[in-house]
Amino acid sequence: MKRTLVTGGAGFLGSFLCEKLLDQGHEVIALDNFYTGSRKNISHLLDHPSFELIRHDIVEPILLEVDWIFNMACPASPIHYQYNPVKTVKTSVMGAINMLGLAKRVSARILQASTSEVYGDPEIHPQQESYWGSVNPIGLRSCYDEGKRVAETLMMDYHRQNQVDIKLVRIFNTYGPRMHINDGRVVSNFIVAALKEEPLEIFGDGEQTRSFCYVSDLIDVILKMMNKDDFIGPVNIGNPGEFTIRELAEKILKLTGSRSKIQVRQERSDDPVRRRPDISLAREKLGWEPSVDLEEGLGKTIEYFEKVLKEA
Ligand code: NAD
Ligand code: UDP
Repeated sequence: MKRTLVTGGAGFLGSFLCEKLLDQGHEVIALDNFYTGSRKNISHLLDHPSFELIRHDIVEPILLEVDWIFNMACPASPIHYQYNPVKTVKTSVMGAINMLGLAKRVSARILQASTSEVYGDPEIHPQQESYWGSVNPIGLRSCYDEGKRVAETLMMDYHRQNQVDIKLVRIFNTYGPRMHINDGRVVSNFIVAALKEEPLEIFGDGEQTRSFCYVSDLIDVILKMMNKDDFIGPVNIGNPGEFTIRELAEKILKLTGSRSKIQVRQERSDDPVRRRPDISLAREKLGWEPSVDLEEGLGKTIEYFEKVLKEA
């Protein structure tokens, strides 16, 4: 079995990935600086004999012996990545250089968690991997979008120049249990507000769209990608069901039975208007299809936040 490094292993996606890898018999090293992640996400893994947790910032190099690297470290929620934008760029760019340097030294396979944000505010719909994107290089979202674009460039250049064994996945909006209560992304914000009977705040007219993927579907496809030889990507991964933000708010109000009201707030700058992945490539190359629809996934996420709020 493999010795596997998960950067950002104490985060939302990283913690599920660690869990699944341990289930499959890997030795797992989770590395995290706990900026948005927490020990709580992985506390149930700490006693596992094949699990190790290292507090480390990927902006600094690290020497380890590993077979696989999942580079998941980076704040993903706009409020968190915009809080210290210079650090966000460093995490994506210097983090990728450090992890690629490690992969090169020990001949490890490395997967980079890229994002639908590389498409920016897209001019084509749905988005295919061949689209180069429409990204503002100087806006509030640029630290994240451009940082991830450079990380993709670095992956491809280390592959071409140094034959590093890479995998590039472009993740679309993903949600589920274990998102932080103050994560700031739309699904957790709306669920927490609805459960507290507080207003659900929509930024802009609410007609902007997103496609929401449930976490278990995403972890399945990330592992499929890592196990696949002769395909480096980039590949879109996400659920192609497309909903307006207003539809999402209404669905959550219905599912929670909340009496919360919807409040309209000023739109965010550079907020993409439409987003939906074309997942033909993932279907063809990885034989993957998401299986959890929005209502089912929201139901499980609502259950999780009900528990968290009760404990708090
Ligand atoms: P998250 O914020 O829950 O997790 C990120 C983790 O990385 C946290 O544990 C954080 O503490 C850690 N981290 C941040 N900066 C670090 C640094 N410099 N050194 C070490 N650790 C650091 O977010 P998530 O949703 O789990 O996202 C994981 C990855 O997937 C990110 O790279 C994100 O960009 C990407 N992604 C996620 C989504 C999504 O919808 N969830 C969509 C697109 C891309
Ligand atoms: N959004 C919203 N209310 C919130 C949080 C987000 O209306 O409390 C909107 C946001 O403006 C965007 C969409 O929901 O249009 C998704 O935002 P999120 O921060 O989840 O992720 P993004 O896809 O923008 O990175």
